[in-house]
Amino acid sequence: MDTFQLKIISSDRVFFDGRAKKLIIPAPDGQKGILPHHENMVIAVEIGELHLCDVEDKWITASVSKGFVEIMNNRVSVLVNTAESPEEIDVRRATEAKERAEEQLRQKQSMQEYQMSKASLARAMARLRTSKEKDWRI
Ligand code: ATP
Repeated sequence: MDTFQLKIISSDRVFFDGRAKKLIIPAPDGQKGILPHHENMVIAVEIGELHLCDVEDKWITASVSKGFVEIMNNRVSVLVNTAESPEEIDVRRATEAKERAEEQLRQKQSMQEYQMSKASLARAMARLRTSKEKDWRI
């Protein structure tokens, strides 16, 4: 069976550490698939949804925020600020964060505040999307 070593680390925990058959990440130019023996490279991770297929053909989904992936000699490390599975997402918290960000975006803001509100809105929307994807299949 062709697999690769995968470790997904967020700022407060290890989300996944084991062997995987496939990884799909939200990259700047869209969803990117990583298979065993991918060439070595570093790829940026955007706010969005990550999917991995483990050795038992079980798909695991996570809502992730920004970070990067390092692929090195069939070992893949994903380093992201946050990662939550659909079951872990607090929908009420994400809804409130979305409403807060939308309200901030209606106000006059500095460019930096505007970028932060936009990122906050993107995180909240990604979490709300992921919370509905408990049965994601490729
Ligand atoms: P909030 O404004 O609700 O704190 P945020 O986008 O600013 O949202 P982050 O800074 O991305 O939050 O995450 C801080 C921590 O809280 C991380 O550990 C993240 O996994 C967790 N977290 C944030 N929002 C949720 C949520 N809706 N459900 C579960 N965990 C969440």
